[in-house]
Amino acid sequence: MSEFNGRKALVTGGSRGIGRAIVRRLASDGADVVINYNSNESAANEIAAEVRGLGRHAVIIQADVSVQKEAERLANESIEALGSIDILVNNAGIGATAVGRPHVAEATPEDFERLMAAHAFASHDLCRVLVPQMREADRGDIVMISSIAAQSFGPTGGTYAAAKAAMEALAFSLAKEERGNNIHVNIVAPGLIETDMADMMVKFQGRVTDSIAELADESPFGRLGSPDDIAGAVAFLCSARASYITNQRITVAGG
Ligand code: NAP
Repeated sequence: MSEFNGRKALVTGGSRGIGRAIVRRLASDGADVVINYNSNESAANEIAAEVRGLGRHAVIIQADVSVQKEAERLANESIEALGSIDILVNNAGIGATAVGRPHVAEATPEDFERLMAAHAFASHDLCRVLVPQMREADRGDIVMISSIAAQSFGPTGGTYAAAKAAMEALAFSLAKEERGNNIHVNIVAPGLIETDMADMMVKFQGRVTDSIAELADESPFGRLGSPDDIAGAVAFLCSARASYITNQRITVAGG
């Protein structure tokens, strides 16, 4: 019997990068999965086919989670599609460089609002709809994918870090509120992980000329972090091995 047999997960931004690896890992361990994406349908189709190849249900739902009504629709359609959701991974996100102005004094209110909406408001909207039905399950898990940016508070990306910090604040309170309902709420904070987002960020910073892979030599352990490193931490937190763990923040950044 696989670890997550019978469990039903929603992974936001499950089509690419870190989210895709989380979808693959949860499905490999037995979960049925809703894969959310925003614009890249073919990427969502690819990972859904992989999940189905593993013998698990995969449901694809397009929704821009940064729009309140879309996040609510995503949550409701996920419950409808799988009957219930007992694992929520709030992973979808955008970097400050994707918004355009990563320096605090240059960022517009609209830039900041986009980042807050994608990371903090979206997580709140999804929890708001999904937690009531999660209380009926034997166990529920919510994992917020944050960032080391919300601990290093570096010289660029202050608005992104603020949005991640807001998301973390919600997680810490929610963990205490829902512990009595056996809902575990934890945070995984990745360092630099080899994905499209990281590639865009380090190119913007002028740290590489070609690709993020150039940074491998100067990275901890001599390699870049991989999406599977994050998926492993998420799977652990949702597993029976973590049944006495909630309200925690795990940094996955190579130390
Ligand atoms: P990525 O490769 O750019 O993938 C982002 C994923 O999120 C895609 O599936 C994308 O869907 C989806 N997405 C983006 N905005 C969305 C929206 N408004 N609604 C629904 N889906 C949306 O990024 P990643 O590197 O895997 O990042 C995943 C998470 O990890 C983010 O929250 C990010 O902040 C965090 N993180 C990443 C790193 C890193 O170094 N990579 C470090 C720390 C934290 P489409 O394919 O449809 O666009």
